[in-house]
Amino acid sequence: MRVHHLNCGTMRPLGGRLLDGRPGLHRRAEMVCHCLLLETDDGLVLVETGVGTPASTRPNEWLGKAFRLLTNPVIEYAESAVEQVSGLGFAPEDVRHVVLTHLDLDHAGGLVDFPDAVVHVYETELRAMREPRDRSERLRYRRAQFAHRPMFRPYPADGELWFGFEAVRELDGLGPEILIVPLAGHTRGHAGVAVDTGDGWLLNAGDSYFFHGQLDADAPHCPPGLALFESLVQTERRSRLDNQERLRELVGGHGSEVTVFCAHDPVEFHRLAEAAGAPPVSG
Ligand SMILES: [Zn+2]
Repeated sequence: MRVHHLNCGTMRPLGGRLLDGRPGLHRRAEMVCHCLLLETDDGLVLVETGVGTPASTRPNEWLGKAFRLLTNPVIEYAESAVEQVSGLGFAPEDVRHVVLTHLDLDHAGGLVDFPDAVVHVYETELRAMREPRDRSERLRYRRAQFAHRPMFRPYPADGELWFGFEAVRELDGLGPEILIVPLAGHTRGHAGVAVDTGDGWLLNAGDSYFFHGQLDADAPHCPPGLALFESLVQTERRSRLDNQERLRELVGGHGSEVTVFCAHDPVEFHRLAEAAGAPPVSG
């Protein structure tokens, strides 16, 4: 399997070291939207979609003013997943499957650019979007991003184990090398996406953590501004913290077999994109 690491949405929020831990307070931090494009025997599979092309043409409707103010997204058409897929020599319809960690706007925003793809998602997350149980769930999912009626395939967790995590295996039309690993907390149906690349596992942990230092087994750490942001956007605090602890244990016990990364950390993104041998696209 060939794996491409794509950044499908750079954000430059003000906050300097409070957000990224590097020196300097009065500068903008960098965040990415770390997606994977997988060349599999079943066609192209996109894991996460970033903000999508409408983010550059109608950003307020697509992303909302609050999100734009908070994260200052760069919104370059060239960063959209569909444009990067084209840049690699593929057509958008070659992407037969999309697998998502959750349905927040910076993860599902690009679905509209792949209307023919089957969209695999954990059923609890789809329910949270379709039947929000409170105001925060009603506000966090952007209706406009789902108006084209994506071909969702929801799955329950079926109790199969993957390194001790309950997991969904056997996604419709896909082989056993891609699975959904529920990691609730950020949203109630949040999940990771695990990929057996043939050269070890990758786990895209989405927004189950935000900073590489959080998975440091001996001294987990996170810049204070980012830690505050993380708790402001969480749905279930206890599950989020428990799952972070489980991810630390996974890295501690199986770090040579599984490479874990999150959606928005630029350090992890650049490290993995460079290791994969392709020049990363970054705004
Ligand atoms: Zn996110």
